[in-house]
Amino acid sequence: MAKPRVYTTTAFVLKYRNYGESDRFITFLSRELGQVQGFAKGVRRSTSKLTGHLELFHNVRVSFAVGKNIDVITEVEIVKTADKINDSLSILSCALNITELAINLSAEGPGNEAIYDLLYQTLNALNGSDEDNAEKLLAYYQLNLLFISGLAPEYKECVECRCKLSKQDHVYNATAGGIICPNCTNKQIGSLTNLSVNSIKVLRYIESTDIKSVELFPIPKPIISDVNKILNLHINHHIDRKIRSSTFFKVTD
Ligand SMILES: [Zn+2]
Repeated sequence: MAKPRVYTTTAFVLKYRNYGESDRFITFLSRELGQVQGFAKGVRRSTSKLTGHLELFHNVRVSFAVGKNIDVITEVEIVKTADKINDSLSILSCALNITELAINLSAEGPGNEAIYDLLYQTLNALNGSDEDNAEKLLAYYQLNLLFISGLAPEYKECVECRCKLSKQDHVYNATAGGIICPNCTNKQIGSLTNLSVNSIKVLRYIESTDIKSVELFPIPKPIISDVNKILNLHINHHIDRKIRSSTFFKVTD
């Protein structure tokens, strides 16, 4: 069905790219419409009615006029700001990581509801979070996004022989896509990364619970850093392959 000439949706501002002297191309994620690209004419002029409304991570009600090559943004109303994210560089870095992943794993059109809802939860929690919680929220987002996308790492059984893993430290192999049991480690191609039994427990805990519980649950910094390291290795290997993009995690244009 063709889009009407003018349409409105609620969406997150995920990314922008400056164009010319005062314009911007903006990438949104809408729950109903999926990824939407819009052209914000004159947005960088202080006199524009769009100015200040289309900042990164804001949730906005935005109207578009259908254009020949790209739809033009005509009206914007802020639903929820995310200004506090900018107060800390490490929280900002987590938020940029989160939106970049959302861009890489969402698509135009319907079918992006789960990614949108996860983004909504995580950005809300991150806006006003302290730096210690940011890493936990990033791990929650990344692991859930991997499950939504069917790309989650295997950490309940050996990814090679499918034996149940004993409660001990193990190794993770990005190429294989998960944990390898001691009997299978010799057959591996690619590097092995140590994963402690406590990090494995944290992965299982994050998978089994909600974002609020993850925020409240005390996870020692070395453990959550270890979990994030494994998730990043997994994402870099599997999502990079999926999107065939060398620009993954590059947060600026
Ligand atoms: Zn095995």
